[in-house]
This record gives sequence, C-alpha cells and structure tokens, in this order.
Amino acid sequence: MTEERYLIAPRSKVSQAMREERQGHCGMAFWLTGLSGAGKSTLAHEVEERLFKLGYHVVVFDGDVIRKGLCGDLGFSPDDRKENNRRIAEVAKLFVRSGIICICAFISPSHEHRAQVRSTISGEHFREVFVNCPATECERRDVKGFYAKARQGLIKNYTGVSSGYEVPEHPDCAISTDERPVQDCVEELMAFILSSIHSRTPTKR
Ligand code: ADP
Repeated sequence: MTEERYLIAPRSKVSQAMREERQGHCGMAFWLTGLSGAGKSTLAHEVEERLFKLGYHVVVFDGDVIRKGLCGDLGFSPDDRKENNRRIAEVAKLFVRSGIICICAFISPSHEHRAQVRSTISGEHFREVFVNCPATECERRDVKGFYAKARQGLIKNYTGVSSGYEVPEHPDCAISTDERPVQDCVEELMAFILSSIHSRTPTKR
C-alpha cells in the first residue's frame, strides 16, 4: 500500500484502483486555460453533459464559481492568484483521486501556476487544454462586460487588458474557438478526453 494509491486518506481501505474499477474509468483533470471569453466554460459544460449522459463521473470546476465560494476571500494580486491556484489544485486532486473526471475552466494565465497544478495533481492525471482565441475576438465577445469595465479602469489587473496571459508552450491539446461553431470544438475536446481516459494504464491494486 503506497501513500500515493491511498492519497485521499492514508488509512482508507478503498484504493484509487478499486474506485476506478467500480466506475469503469480513472479520474483525470482537464485544465482548460485561455483568456476570458475564449470559450472555456461553454466547452466545459457541453462536454460535462455529453460525458454524464455516456455514464462517466464528471464535474466542472468554474473559475467564477470558485471565486465566489472557496476563494471568496481572495483578490487578483500575484499572491492571491497563487493561493487561488493552490486551493483549486488541491481540491481537484481530491476529486481526481476519487475517480472523477474534472473539467477545470480557469484563465490560469501563468506558466508557473499551471506547472504547479500539474505537479500537485500529478502529470499522469492532468491534461492541459489551451482554449485558444485571439484577444481581439474575446474582447469583441465580452460575454460578461468585463473587458469594457477593464478598459474604463473599473477593474484592475484584468487578464488580457491590464494583466498578461502567458500562452501555453506545450499544451496537451489546443482548441481554436475563433470562427468555428461550438459543436466542432466540443467534438474535438470530447475525442481528446475519451482517448486520454481510456489510454491511461489503470492504477495497480
Ligand atoms: P470563458 O469561460 O473562456 O470566459 P465563455 O465560455 O464564458 O468563455 O464565453 C465564450 C463565448 O464565446 C460564449 O458566448 C460562446 O457562445 C462563444 N463562442 C463562439 N464560438 C465558440 C466556440 N467555437 N467555442 C466556444 N465558445 C464559442
């Protein structure tokens, strides 16, 4: 019995492998990163529904929701962003170890923070998905009206306006959402998720 296999609670008699066997698939985190308005939440919820209907255990973690609850005490300073990232990674790890597919939709603008999440969850159970859309198109969409507010100086440190976004250099998957129907992107993401889940060697008992 290694600590890794019983990571949720070291004294648990139910291993990760036992959970995977019962559920028919492993847990894995798909980390959707990209600018605000790129399409992360849209794709996350579409694939969540598709996977759920196919019988998979799946959940979406959405940046806006987490920031209102678990991380409601944090702002957007570098230290707060780091802490926000750390908490999300720890929570996602627990879900993944429980054999759940986590679709995580977070801007997560820095290489350092994404690398931190990968190492917290473990690379084997983590896939980085770059939801790629040009900043000009994200700003044109301005789904929540935040770009306009950031341009007026009403929101500080807004990613893509007054705070940088470091484009992933080696994402496991990159999906361009510019000038493409949502359903095409959903198909692409579904194919990637299913091949990632089913190509992973099951955890040893
Ligand atoms: P994010 O979660 O990245 O901030 P949202 O999913 O909230 O972005 O918003 C993306 C917007 O872009 C939605 O209004 C969505 O309908 C639109 N959109 C247009 N084309 C696409 C596409 N191919 N994939 C995803 N979203 C798209």
